[in-house]
Amino acid sequence: MQHLLLLSTFKRGLTLQRICPIVFLTDQRLGKFMTDHFSRHKITPGWIEVICGCMFSGKTSELIKQVHRAELARLNCIVFKPKIDNRYSETEVASHDQNTFPSVIVESSDDIIPHIDRNTDVVGIDEAQFFDDRIVDIVTLLADSGKRVVLAGLDTDWQGKPFGPMPTLLAIADVIHKQYAICMVCGDPATRTQRLVAQNDSILVGSSESYEARCRNHFDPLLSVRLTQVAAPQDEMGTKSITEPTVQA
Ligand SMILES: [Zn+2]
Repeated sequence: MQHLLLLSTFKRGLTLQRICPIVFLTDQRLGKFMTDHFSRHKITPGWIEVICGCMFSGKTSELIKQVHRAELARLNCIVFKPKIDNRYSETEVASHDQNTFPSVIVESSDDIIPHIDRNTDVVGIDEAQFFDDRIVDIVTLLADSGKRVVLAGLDTDWQGKPFGPMPTLLAIADVIHKQYAICMVCGDPATRTQRLVAQNDSILVGSSESYEARCRNHFDPLLSVRLTQVAAPQDEMGTKSITEPTVQA
């Protein structure tokens, strides 16, 4: 009977999204759904979206796309990125595939607020994993004051561990977009960032010369540690002094 009712409802022209929106919660169209949902029902004017995934998964491209769309809708947008990330541009957020959007570079999350005013509708934040923990309070404040906040960031670091404030940002997000790259070994969907160089610092800003995307099966978090040991200097006796590298979370 229930099925007949649903079928009948379809025939009346209603979409599945309107009948059972929860079905779409894991769908890529979730962002649009939430946009429509919030604007239609006025639940709250502000919210937090987090775009996460490994390197080369298109996080920044998705952020730029969302901000461009908001601009087409004549919304006032501003995008921030941390000073630490100057790989592609000093004045723009830039994806690996060269999409760009003008950005404000800030040293800390507290530096974001002075750039926001009552006319700001959308706040984009790239490389959110590099921000300090205050970013959580900042984006909460912005969303509570009616801003749409869109963050993009690595969910895990080169060791496969949760990266900086990202776990908390994901926990408080209203919308989450999980992006996938392609594993450079097998071609399956990739969720991990493989560091390829002998460098064990917790943060090493780099691109394809230092990292590649890997699936869980081909992710090797100890590769960088082994490369460091191979590169260790030899002492006067001609033996390699292999010391346990400092591995930070
Ligand atoms: Zn693989």
